[in-house]
Amino acid sequence: MNSPDRYQTALATLQLPDEWQVDVAVRPRRRRVGIEVKPGGAVAVLVPPLADPEQIVRFVRSRRRWITEKVDLAVRLAPDHPVKELVNGDEFDLLGQRYQLQLVATPPAGIEQLPAATADRILYARAQRPEQVRQAIIGWYRQVGLDWVKREGRQYEQDGRIGGLRYEVRDLGRHRWGLYRGEPKHITALHWAVFGLPVHLAEYVLVHEQAHATRPGGRAHGAAWQRRMNLWMPDWRQRQLELAEVGRHCWLGDCRLPGAAV
Ligand SMILES: [Zn+2]
Repeated sequence: MNSPDRYQTALATLQLPDEWQVDVAVRPRRRRVGIEVKPGGAVAVLVPPLADPEQIVRFVRSRRRWITEKVDLAVRLAPDHPVKELVNGDEFDLLGQRYQLQLVATPPAGIEQLPAATADRILYARAQRPEQVRQAIIGWYRQVGLDWVKREGRQYEQDGRIGGLRYEVRDLGRHRWGLYRGEPKHITALHWAVFGLPVHLAEYVLVHEQAHATRPGGRAHGAAWQRRMNLWMPDWRQRQLELAEVGRHCWLGDCRLPGAAV
């Protein structure tokens, strides 16, 4: 018998905390036992075929402190993205300002196009089906974000001698804030949700990708890339840590959509 059960049974003797959600997986290609702490804090023990359960128990016992630290960190950094209702008064952060949503049938005086953000921090959007409101607001993030990224990115293009770079602001899913696509595309892309972060964190995401766009030698985040980061943004490590914390509370476009008309 080589099912995960015998390992689970053996590990039960360690009385590990329930919240670790320990799962054992037998991995035919593994030669050594390994432990993986997943985002959110679940623990997977990866076991080579025919491993001795006692050896697994000893290994996990010896790593107990390491697992505790990793689980704590994973739980602390678990995503906690807000879900918007898309009703009047909903708040949206954009480049360091907070706007209150106001749904209107027609643009107020002095405003030509919806959605529109005013100096007194109102975000006017057309009252329509929630999915359309959501799309309109995301479109607003993309538009303002693209203008910002083109403007702010230029100094790094010049300083880093990056020629012909293009920009994109779009949805990059739930695990990525930015990316640089090499030739022939040669594009710096930022997630639209980046513009809901404080400005100094949006700057970090931009500078991170611009440093890739200089095409430093070596590994993606290796010594040459880090040198460029140190030059452009001496406190980038601090911002990177802050992004991991602040970013998990950032709006990623999630809405409670009743499906009915507003
Ligand atoms: Zn990178």
